[in-house]
Formats: sequence, structure tokens, C-alpha cells
Amino acid sequence: MKRGAMPDLSDSGSRKLLGRLRDAMAEDSAGQERLDKITHLIATSMQTEVCSIYLFRDAETLELCATEGLKAEAVHQTRMRLGEGLVGRVAKNGRIVNSANAPQETGFRYMPETGEEKYSSFLGVPIQRLGEALGVLVVQSKEAREYSGDEVYALEIVAMVLAEMTELGAFVGEGAALSARHQQPVLFRGTQGQEGAAEGHVFLHEPRVVVTKPIADDPEIELKRLHDAVDQLRVSVDDLLSNASKTDKDQLQVLEAYRMFANSRGWLRRMEDDISNGLSAEAAVEKEQSVARARMAQVPDAYLRERLHDLDDLSNRLLRILTGQGTNTGAEMPDDPILVARNIGPGELLEYGRKLKGIVLEEGSVGSHAAIVARALAIPLIINAKGILTEALNGDHIMVDGDVAQVHLRPDDNIVAAFRDKIAMLAEAQTRYASIRDLPATARCGSTVSLCMNAGLMADLPSLAGSGAEGVGLFRTELQFLIRNTVPKRSELAALYATVLDAAGGKRVVFRTLDIGSDKVLPYMKPQDEPNPALGWRAIRVGLDKPGVLRMQLQALLRAANGRALTVMFPFIAQFEEYRAARAEMDKAIAREEKLGHVLPEKLEVGAMLETPSLAFAPRKFFEEVEFISIGGNDLKQFFFAADRENERVRRRYDTLNVSFLTFIENIVTRCNETETPVSFCGEDAGRPVEALCLAAVGLRTLSMRPASIGPVKHLLRRSNLDDVREVIEEARNRGDQSVRPAIMSWLRGQKI
Ligand code: PEP
Ligand code: MG
Repeated sequence: MKRGAMPDLSDSGSRKLLGRLRDAMAEDSAGQERLDKITHLIATSMQTEVCSIYLFRDAETLELCATEGLKAEAVHQTRMRLGEGLVGRVAKNGRIVNSANAPQETGFRYMPETGEEKYSSFLGVPIQRLGEALGVLVVQSKEAREYSGDEVYALEIVAMVLAEMTELGAFVGEGAALSARHQQPVLFRGTQGQEGAAEGHVFLHEPRVVVTKPIADDPEIELKRLHDAVDQLRVSVDDLLSNASKTDKDQLQVLEAYRMFANSRGWLRRMEDDISNGLSAEAAVEKEQSVARARMAQVPDAYLRERLHDLDDLSNRLLRILTGQGTNTGAEMPDDPILVARNIGPGELLEYGRKLKGIVLEEGSVGSHAAIVARALAIPLIINAKGILTEALNGDHIMVDGDVAQVHLRPDDNIVAAFRDKIAMLAEAQTRYASIRDLPATARCGSTVSLCMNAGLMADLPSLAGSGAEGVGLFRTELQFLIRNTVPKRSELAALYATVLDAAGGKRVVFRTLDIGSDKVLPYMKPQDEPNPALGWRAIRVGLDKPGVLRMQLQALLRAANGRALTVMFPFIAQFEEYRAARAEMDKAIAREEKLGHVLPEKLEVGAMLETPSLAFAPRKFFEEVEFISIGGNDLKQFFFAADRENERVRRRYDTLNVSFLTFIENIVTRCNETETPVSFCGEDAGRPVEALCLAAVGLRTLSMRPASIGPVKHLLRRSNLDDVREVIEEARNRGDQSVRPAIMSWLRGQKI
């Protein structure tokens, strides 16, 4: 690479340029004037004929916003699409293009209005901040030469500063292309965590760090700041490591990676170089973070991506140390907050509680504890909304459509109107459901289905009255264990269960004993290294093998009942013997309580959850002995079809209305009816109106679901004749249909329900 009569772009040269840029920024001038000044300064410092700045006009279009050297008339006229021409290529790939003979490059597009045909060499570097593309900075010259490594680096440093300035709104002013960043509407598609629609304003769980001073006054001071901050970071990572649970391998692995990065010479050296070239310490951290993010997007290997992710987290910690900006910047929570976060723990989410109108997570999973809490709170939740954190700012207008898993950030008027129509329709439906809240779910044929709700948190209790539920058909006791950091005490549990019974005011509450393992891992429980946790040591298997917690829980339940009626069921009973053993624990607990002189429940019912196909084939004696059965459709379906309920690839492959599955459910109901064993269904499908209708048609008379589903399910049941539905199912079965869904849907259309 030849440097020829190159300008002085040694460290001090680029520092000088940054110094001049800083002075230009400090002047009280309008956005366009600043941009013009900057292109002039860069062109002169680099002794190159052309310097241009292209910024995004919208997500797909770049616009020439300032130039030194190209024709002035082209400013705000010349536009290109993402990927178009060399500038578009830089923006699209986030990578520099350095060419001695630009017109010969593939993809070169000649823009006659700019007069750029005279210029042979071209260097374009992306203007990007933390993975977000903001524009492209270009220098060009007549002499056919490649720009040197030093020049490329210098221009990257300048681009970094420009990115920060763009972010700070330094170029905002008159002119369409100079509207502030983060003002355009953006649509995000994610995965549904909880349905429902909500409109509100963004509240960032952890607001991003704002770098207000990207250029260093004195590199020596900046270097010292960086070193002090890195030292502080290392100490905090060591502290984290010494306090971490030695058995939590995942956490240890992350912390080890943190430590490795915190001690990485390469990382530190790159940041030191950036500072020598004129950046402030925080801008240097952010520059390297941006590079890592760009790499993250391109690394196919999941493990490596995770490590880059760790580096990203660590950079954030370093930035917070340097800027003193904590995770809480004191931003005021809007009246209608929609929480935007990378991820969030269940405890934190509970703290926000029902204040939130919606939640959007950049990561997360359907089965995560946060998702469980969001469902309990009936707050629309979207997960995997990639890129939302780079785009959303505190206070942005946002609309969350949990039904189709879409997020509209800063929506335009058309979207706002359509979305508000949808919310109005939903509200109208809610009014309709409210009007039938106290009526029974009696179908046209005269059969009545008892509709109960699923619960697990204190936050669920207000729904008991509001939803019209006849009781709690499934109280997931593990949620109370999941949201804490330590095992709750017996007295705490007893008080909690008593509150639940008080709130129920005599309505039946079915407490399910601890259902942990598989996807529900307690933070304080030694993780089991199981190859296949869904088929592993979980639920009643843990309860029987290590009965301490089960015994404590049964005792807490008996005390909470304090003489009132009590209903308890055991999860994941796969064979008769497990039910007997669990029942024996209950009998022992009662004997103990009696001996201690505590009052016993006036009525006690003990049941089993049928969640594995094996139990459907248990001996008749089991059905005679068990006092009731609750079908856990979520697990039952995953084992029936051998399709992991957590695995997005296979989760939706098999329809609940598949003829085989419905027939299987019907057989269970028949067996229960033969022995007069009460049977209910409490999986998620009970809350889907069409599924609920079919479950009722195959004989189920008790369904337990999310409180918000009771209205829609009741509405449909009251308008249907279950005998007709049965007939439709029968016909589909006889025809050999795979699923009864098409037949049911077409029948429903015919009924105009
Ligand atoms: C089920 O498996 O259907 C069920 C209700 O239990 P959980 O979803 O808590 O596993
Ligand atoms: Mg289950």
C-alpha cells in the first residue's frame, strides 16, 4: 500500500482532526452547517478531494447529506437503496470498501448529478453504532490509489464520532433528510409470548448508555480512565465469580468468559489505540463493542455468538462504570408503559406488576419464567423482537400486537388507526364477555361445562372475581418457588395458600404440588445434568425421591386450609404406584397434623394429573381409587406426538384437533366415566375456544384455563350445540381426516357463530 505524499494521519494527526471536529461541534450552528463543516474538515485533513456523508433517510434509503468536492446540487438529491452502488454496499454489509479504481468495482453505480466520474479511488466506511447502521462516510480522490491502513483506521475513528453525534441529534435541523434518528416507524416481528393488544409508550428496563463526549481532550487522562475502569471491572467480575454457585455450570461458564475478556490484552490494546487516535474512553469501548456486534450478526456458530454476547454485556458494564450511568437513569415511567428489554427475570417483572401495558423482549423464550409471569398478569408479551433495543427510545409511541407477534414502533397514522380499531373491537368483545360473566357455560344442547381458571401467583387472584371462573382448576405452586432465590419456609407457604383460599371465598382451588424439573429449574436447586430433562427427573419423581419439600408443602396446605375444604393433586403421575406413594405422603401428613392437634380439612380431595399416555392405560383400580383426574394437555400432547412443547420447530406440527389425539382424550373421558371419576382438562388448549368446544364435545365437563380465555370460551360454548359438534367430529373421523379442524371451522362458518 503506498502512502506517497500522504497527509499526516499518525495518531496525533487523527487526534488533530478530531480536535477540530470537536470545535466545529461546539459552535452553535444548525445541523446542515455542521455536516458541511465536517466534510470540509475531513477532506482538508486527509488531503483528499472529496468527502461525503450519506445518512439513512429510512431503513432502506441512503441520502447524500453533505459533501466537499461533489456537486453541491446533489446534496439531498442523490439517493440510493441499501445495497445499491458502493455506498449502499458499505451500508448493507457494515464493511469498508477501499478501491483504487472504483468505477471498475462490481456494483459501482454512476451518479451523474454528483460529478464523481473524475474520481478514481474510493474509501467508504460505515457509520454505525452498536450494530445499528446510520450511514456511510466516503472519501474519494482523482489519483488511482488504495487508501492506507492508517487512513482507513482514521476514517473509522471519525465515523465512530459521527455515529455518536448523529445519535445525539447533532445534525438535526431543517431539511427532510436531517430529521432526528429514531423517528421513523419500524415494524418488528417476534414470537408470541402472550396474546393481546396494547398501545403505550416505551419504557426501557435498562436504558442504554449515552456517550455525550466522544472526543478526548487529553488522551493521557482517557487512558487512565480506561485502565481504572477496567481494573474496577475485573474486581467486580472476580467478586461475581467467587459468589457464584459452583454447581451452576452455565453461570460459571458465562462468568469465566467475562473474566477472560476482562483480562484480554487484545481487547484492551484496541481500546488504547482508539484513545490514542483521539476517542474518549467511553467512545473507545463503544467502538469495539460495535465491531463485536457487527461480528455477532455474522457468526454462524452458536457458541461463539454467545461469547460475543458476553463481551457485549461486559462492554455495557464497562460503559456504565465509565459514564456513571446506572441501570436506572431515573427516566420517568409513562402512564401507559410498554416495557422493552433484552430479557427480564420473573421477580423483576413482578415488581413492575400490572402497571405495564405490554412487554417486548429482544430475547426470551415461550417457556421462560418471565413469560409465565406475563401470562399470569395477562400482559401482551412479544419475545425475540430482534433489534428493538437499538431502535426504541424511552417515551417512543409503541403498539404491541401479541396476537400476531408484531410490534409497531413509532407507528404512522394508518397503523395507529387500524390498531385502535382492533383494540376497540377487543374491548367490545370484552364487554360482551362481561355481560355473560355470571351466566353458566350451558351449550344449546343443554350440557353445562364448568369453566375454571389456572393460577399460580398472587397477581392472579383478582381474576377470580373478574373472569367469572367457577374456581381455580390448577394452582401451579411451583411459580412461588420459581420467583424466589431461596426455598420458601413452611410458614410462608401456609400464609400464602391461606390467602389464596381466602380470595377464593369458598370456590374450589386445586393445588398442584411442586412441578419442577424439565423447563422449570429452581434457581437454588442443583441443576441435574440430564440429556433429556422433559423425560427426566421432574415433578412427582423428585417429590417421591426427595420427599422433604413435598412433605413441607403438604403440611403447609393442610395448615392453610385450617379446617376448610382442601383439594390437592400430584403432577406427572405416570403409573398407579406413584399415585399411591404420593397419596401415602398425604395420609402421613394428615396423621402428623392430627397428632399435633391441628384442625383437619372438613373435606379433602386428592387427585392426579394425567400427563403421560401411560396413565391412560392404568388398571381400572387406579381410576377407582383416585378421587379426580386432571388432564395436563400440554405435557400429554408432547408425549403423545413425541414433539417437544418448547421446540418451535415441532411445537405446532401436530394439531390438538388431530383425530388421533381427540380420540385418545375421548377414551380417557370414557374410562373416567365408567368409574365415575371426575375428570377435567387444564392444558393451554382448554383456553382456545375451538379446541375447548371439541374437548367439551368429546365429553369433558370441566375445563381450566387462563382467566382471559373464560369469556371467549363461554361465548362460543353458549352458542353451540355439542351434539352437532360431536357429529362433525364423527364424520371427520369416518372420512379419515387428519384433523377435525377444517370440518369444525367450516361448520362454525355455517352456523355464523
Ligand atoms: C400441562 O402439562 O398441561 C399442565 C397444565 O402443566 P404445565 O403446563 O404446568 O406443565
Ligand atoms: Mg405439565
